[in-house]
Parts: sequence; C-alpha cells; structure tokens
Amino acid sequence: MRKGIHPEYHAKAAISCACGARFEVGSTVPSMRVEVCSKCHPFYTGARTRLSEKGGRVERFRKKYGGAKKEG
Ligand SMILES: [Zn+2]
Repeated sequence: MRKGIHPEYHAKAAISCACGARFEVGSTVPSMRVEVCSKCHPFYTGARTRLSEKGGRVERFRKKYGGAKKEG
C-alpha cells in the first residue's frame, strides 16, 4: 500500500456498546461507541419475535373478537 493516502488502520479497535458489550474489530478509528450490537439488537436476541407473539395486532384481534362465537 502507498503511504500517505490510506487512513490509519487499527486491527484491534475497541468497540463499546450501550448495552455494555465490548469487542474488537478492525477499523480506521482506535475506538468507537455504538448503540446496538449483535448481543442486544432485537433481531439477534429474539425480542422482536416475543413482542409480536405477546401483544401484536393478531393477539389484540383475538381478545376482542375471539370469544364471539361461544357467546353467540
Ligand atoms: Zn449491545
């Protein structure tokens, strides 16, 4: 690589997440703060799936109209 035209590369840049997780990556900055990572993002933790099962539109619909047949 030519010198002077490339940004400095940090092979072990310290990344700290808002959830407290810390890990090292290769980056052009020595350290970085992020708000979500693979440990706390809903996509990885499965919170998204649980939320949709618990209080989704389908569940609300069932509560509202689910017992209509029995009563009528
Ligand atoms: Zn995180």
